[in-house]
Parts: sequence; C-alpha cells; structure tokens
Amino acid sequence: MYLQLDIPDTLAAGPGPGNTDSRVLQSFARAGVADHMQADVTRGMREAKFMLREVFGTGNTYTFAVGGTGFSGLDCAFSPILPGDNVVAFVNGTFSGIDDLAIRMKASTPADLAADPMNPKPANVITVNVPHGQSVNGDIIESALAEHKPMWAFMAHWETGSGRINDLQGFNDACARHGVMGIVDVVSSLGIADFNIDDYPAVTTWASCPQKGILALPLTYAPVSFNDRVIELLKQRGCYTYVHHPILEARHWSIIDGEDVDAPVYHRTHSGYAVASFHEALRLLLEHGRAQKAADYAFYEKGLRQAIEAMGCEVTSNMTSLVVCNLPGDLAGREKELVAACRAEGFGIWPTLSEPVQVRVGILNQLTEAAITDIVNRYADAMLKMNAEFDKDSVLAGLAEHLRSR
Ligand SMILES: *Cc1c(COP(=O)(O)O)cnc(C)c1O
Repeated sequence: MYLQLDIPDTLAAGPGPGNTDSRVLQSFARAGVADHMQADVTRGMREAKFMLREVFGTGNTYTFAVGGTGFSGLDCAFSPILPGDNVVAFVNGTFSGIDDLAIRMKASTPADLAADPMNPKPANVITVNVPHGQSVNGDIIESALAEHKPMWAFMAHWETGSGRINDLQGFNDACARHGVMGIVDVVSSLGIADFNIDDYPAVTTWASCPQKGILALPLTYAPVSFNDRVIELLKQRGCYTYVHHPILEARHWSIIDGEDVDAPVYHRTHSGYAVASFHEALRLLLEHGRAQKAADYAFYEKGLRQAIEAMGCEVTSNMTSLVVCNLPGDLAGREKELVAACRAEGFGIWPTLSEPVQVRVGILNQLTEAAITDIVNRYADAMLKMNAEFDKDSVLAGLAEHLRSR
C-alpha cells in the first residue's frame, strides 16, 4: 500500500496557480455530502452565475463556468468554430500558442487532421506571431484583419508566458470594423484588471480560469461568457461537442432558451464541494471590489518590480500580477538554476516555458506588505547565493519606502 499522500505548503509566487485563500479551502472542506441536484448546490450555481456577471461586467445571459481548468473554458469558447471557418489568431507567448493549436484543431477538416494529427495546419487559420516580450498592438491586429477578413479572430488579453498586456480596445475596434467575431482569453486578467466585457461588444466570447485572478481551487470552474450573436450562430449551426456545448452546458447553470430559470437541467455531475469553494472565491473577489483589487495589484507589482530592478534584473513584462525579467549580465543563462534552487525551498517561482528563458515572479493573492516583503527577501537571497552583486539592505529599504507611499 502507498502511504497517504501529503503535499506541503509552498509559496506559489509564479504566474499561477496562486495560493488558494483559506476561506475558499474551508468552504470546500465544510460542504456536506450532497448530490449535484440538491437544492443548495443548484442555488449555489445560480448565485455563482449572477456573481460572474458582475465579475465580467456583463449583461450576457450565457455567462457561467465550465468544470475544469482554464483550457476547459477555452475549449468551450472555441467550440463554435467549425471545420473550414476562417480564423486569425494572434500569438505572443506560450498560452496564446496553445490556444492557437486548439483553434487549429477545431477549424481542421478530417484531411487537415490526418496530415498532421498533433499539430494540424489548416489553410483557413492564419497565425500572426508577435515576438516573445512584445505586445499584440492595434496596428498588427488591424492590418491582419483588413487583409484576411476572417469570420473569427482570437487574442489573449494578458499573455502570461511573456507577461505582456495585449491591446483589447484595438482588438475590439478592428473586429467591429471588419465584422469579425472576437474571442479573447482572459485567463490571466479576469479578477486582476478592472474592465467590463460589455465595453467590447465586437468580442463575442470570453474565457477565464479558476486559479489566477479568481483564486478558486484549480480544477473547479473556468468562467466563460458568450454574447447573443454567438449563441444565435450556435443555434443555427451547432457544434461538435456535448460536454463543452455552450447552450447545453448552460442548462445546468439554470439558463434555458436564453432565460434564467429557477431549476436547472442535468448536464453532467457537478460537485457540491467545487460549487461551494468557487462560490466563496467569487464572494471574496466582489467583497474586495474589482477596482480596489486591481489598484492593489498595480501597487504591489510596482514595489516588486522596483526591487527586482534594484537587484540588477531587467524587467520586460507589463502585467500587474507578474514580473518577467532577465538576469543581470554575469548570471544570464542560469535562469533555470535560480528557479530550481528557489523551488527546492518551497518558493514557487517559474521560468518562461518558451524561448528566451526568463524568470517569472508573481504575486497572485499576495496583496499585503508582509507577503511582498517575503517574496523580495527570498528572491534576493537566491540571487545572492548565485553571487549577484547588490546591497540587499538598500533593496529592502527601497521597497519599504514604496510600501509607505500608500
Ligand atoms: C494559465 C493560462 C492558461 C491555462 O490555464 P489552465 O488552468 O492551466 O488550463 C491559458 N491562457 C492563459 C493566458 C493563461 O495564463
């Protein structure tokens, strides 16, 4: 017999998942043993649906959450794309790269899939690659949509792989000008940036995840929102999935024929534990307030960024939940060694997953002076162990001054 599995507490200071709030864990553990159609479980799902509309800033009825991870929500978001549809996808890092692959799989004909089953390249999907470390900007989007006039366009709002914010307004405006249906991955920005998706009406589809800005447990629910245009298209054309069919999946969230109803229809078996913890995560976010939380991220990210720069690193990211940096000259090339040394001590930072290799230090759910100071201390110690040259006391003094400026 194997021993009971014990998993230690670590400090998740990477791009995600963030450390789950204790209130979310308690909700998970406190939930009673109840089946998926028990009245409080389904009420919890209905309330979560209403809270999600506030989190997204939307009146879209088809706003709910997909059981699974971020890519489960994205799979549901991409499900209306049918083989042969014309798509332009913008890629500037690891995650938009995976999204692009998922889109190419959906848009492939059987012949496209047979030609390269794991990495199909249908001619009807145009991938626009933007170099790692750069943002997708309005000019790039406008010229690609003007040239290709696709049915769909895709972009990640915040590309966590390289830590870059892409131009959501430019994406929306170009989609509107060219009659394109936009799909946006808001996995890394929802619950961190303060925005209303209804301000971007040409974007028909949005998908996020449990474990970044929402700070629910990973593998609970990935928030999604679809506007009426894409729901109408689905009613006309259908799509090739039962599990991730937006109209069918929404029934379990008490959305039937475009209306909120009191009683759900079974779609697949939800977990009362997952519902309870996800519900608590949404309550936490709305209690904190979207605008206040966004301001807190910006403030603490600035403190971390300045401290990391004071240690000689070059920061290339502009997200407010994550700092992506190059090590100073003589340490260049030793990024993975630094990350491995930190992780061995329970300090969970990450390298970039695509070239060039950089270091990623994140602050998900670490929005206190003590937490940011702890992260800076641990990072500084790891750098000093590799013989980096800087004065730790003056780095910490600089951080303290920033934290006092509140
Ligand atoms: C983390 C992330 C994903 C993937 O989320 P999972 O929960 O790992 O499936 C997708 N897109 C972006 C932008 C991300 O940051």
